[in-house]
Amino acid sequence: MPNSSNSPLRLLQWTVICLFVVSGVQLKIRRNAQTFAQGSETTTPENNIPMRQGSPFKIALFADLHFGEDAWMNWGPIQDMNSVKVMSTVLDKEDPDFVIYLGDVITANNIMIKNASLYWDQAVSPTRAKGIPWASVFGNHDDAPFEWPMEWFSATGIPQLHCPAPTTSDAGGEDCSFRGTTRLELMKSETEHNTLSHSVNGPQNLWPSVSNYVLKLSSSSDSEAAVAYMYFFDSGGGSYPEVISSAQVKWFQQKYSEVNPDARVPEIIFWHIPSKAYKKVAPSFVAHNHCIGSIFMEDVATQEAEMGIMKVLEERPSIKAVFVGHNHGLDWCCPYKKLWLCFARHTGYGGYGNWSRGARVLEINQQPFSLKSWIRMEDGKVHSEVLLSS
Ligand SMILES: [Zn+2]
Repeated sequence: MPNSSNSPLRLLQWTVICLFVVSGVQLKIRRNAQTFAQGSETTTPENNIPMRQGSPFKIALFADLHFGEDAWMNWGPIQDMNSVKVMSTVLDKEDPDFVIYLGDVITANNIMIKNASLYWDQAVSPTRAKGIPWASVFGNHDDAPFEWPMEWFSATGIPQLHCPAPTTSDAGGEDCSFRGTTRLELMKSETEHNTLSHSVNGPQNLWPSVSNYVLKLSSSSDSEAAVAYMYFFDSGGGSYPEVISSAQVKWFQQKYSEVNPDARVPEIIFWHIPSKAYKKVAPSFVAHNHCIGSIFMEDVATQEAEMGIMKVLEERPSIKAVFVGHNHGLDWCCPYKKLWLCFARHTGYGGYGNWSRGARVLEINQQPFSLKSWIRMEDGKVHSEVLLSS
């Protein structure tokens, strides 16, 4: 049972304080969102990300961080500090231009404070500290309802809980809450408090899915010239079923007709839970077919149902690849029809599985266009390099 003067809360507070201090210093050093080119109505600093002159555009995918797990025990906050270390290592080694948080940023079913954004904020802190812009999508754990541990109802009872208020460092049981933080609240908090965040609370007609939006990667010399479009989808889970809805499919079709009607510009897709097509191409333990990866340890855990998104993606020639998280024991990329289906790499110490942690990295070249990827591990090693489009 945790002791009131003992470490979980202290560790949590200390991590937050350290990250804020570092972020204050480094924000001034590096490029940030404020330097993005001003453009027309369709090219705003929020939805347009210009490439840097003379260098490829590099993206790090941070998947399944699962912050806030078992916060009532010592090891929960320690796991979160380890996840911060993994992210910092990847950011130091790769120096990416952009980061994508690919869902399951937090484990909401373990979080007993009013505002789970406190944990979300810790997860984005290493990226913010380096002044790197980012975007995020939701996974199935980000707004999952609190799950009461059965042992709390046994003789040992509920542990002595210390729930910090989100805006102060004071501990206080009065701030404990088991009602959870909604997707809308989490996204609102991320976007309102972070100028570097390019995430968007998507159109209201797509609710309850929230993280639906498109970002344009533009040429370093002309912010109107698109190099690639990146589409972000909420694949559900948590407070509602794991699915990409018909409404989201329609939204996608409207969006690409608007921004890329002739499919001339390459397009890349990001969401959290693999679609059923991943199961079709999943390599067996003996044969890895044309797949590139290093861990093939699980069956694909797919979305519960499909409402047509894959059909649209398959038929659209500009779609180069789909990137998902969710399965912590898979990190492969497999060819599927004319595109690639890829897993990220489990980045967080939270969540199931003890496979060593890392992050998938993407590299986009403008002239001629190419999309490359590899995995950077927490010990600095690199593997599974693959050319996804050229
Ligand atoms: Zn996960």
